[in-house]
Amino acid sequence: MSWTPRQHAMLAEMGTPLWFAPEPAAESDASSAIRVPSPIQPEPALVPTQAAPSLVPPPVSQPVMAQRGSRPDGVASMGWVQLREAVAGCTACRLCEGRTQAVFGVGHPNAHWMIIGEAPGEQEDRQGEPFVGKSGQLLDNMLRALGLSRGPGVDLPGGGDAKDAPANDPARQVFIANTLKCRPPGNRNPEPEELAQCEPYLLRQIELVQPKIILAMGRFAVQSLLRTTEPIGKLRGRVHRFQEVPLIVTYHPAYLLRNLQEKSKAWDDLCLAQTTLMGGVTS
Ligand code: URA
Repeated sequence: MSWTPRQHAMLAEMGTPLWFAPEPAAESDASSAIRVPSPIQPEPALVPTQAAPSLVPPPVSQPVMAQRGSRPDGVASMGWVQLREAVAGCTACRLCEGRTQAVFGVGHPNAHWMIIGEAPGEQEDRQGEPFVGKSGQLLDNMLRALGLSRGPGVDLPGGGDAKDAPANDPARQVFIANTLKCRPPGNRNPEPEELAQCEPYLLRQIELVQPKIILAMGRFAVQSLLRTTEPIGKLRGRVHRFQEVPLIVTYHPAYLLRNLQEKSKAWDDLCLAQTTLMGGVTS
């Protein structure tokens, strides 16, 4: 990707992205959601992070042991409280049987940025928050390089704390969600039926947040949002649309942990997202 003078200026303003520096190779981690490599795009392992400010309720320590049933009606018109409860109690697919808890999402309810990942891994399932593993740490560093964060908390109905207001500027905040709210057993790939059952929750989250930009990370998020089977490598580098919202495709942080040489591309993607949000790229 070649940089416009505007992008150069923007990069200079941002300073050196810390996450951009090579990191030690991802350790094997019990929490890593090792995604079975796909024939199209190898998908990575997921891992834990620092304790990021959490907007989710305290972790549930006992497995829910839900029986498969159905998704509640009316997801498309739910508010935050109802939606959070619906996700917590969802039994629409068999993933409910193995979860400790559903992972709703975290962040500012009106964040300008929405980050969409794949599915909870072991740590996320345990802690009830998305991206709390090593890939989450990388994600937080990437966000920090852009002056963004997933917290501190705001008064998200149904969970979260009201804290210092300036840090809660929605322009500097993200909302992080996954395509699947429950952990696939053994961190296997999501199945189409599971993605289909879970999709209404994500769609409602997007409608409620009304982000100004969506960053879709990894094959499953990208392909299900864009309804395509194209590999990430062919989709990144341009602005897509999800409904009317600009959507930028990028690699999953866990993939980046295993493929350090791709970090510069991910940085390009973040800069494209930033430039798009600033009005520099329209399609
Ligand atoms: N990977 C994801 O895609 N989402 C998570 O929440 C954790 C790891």
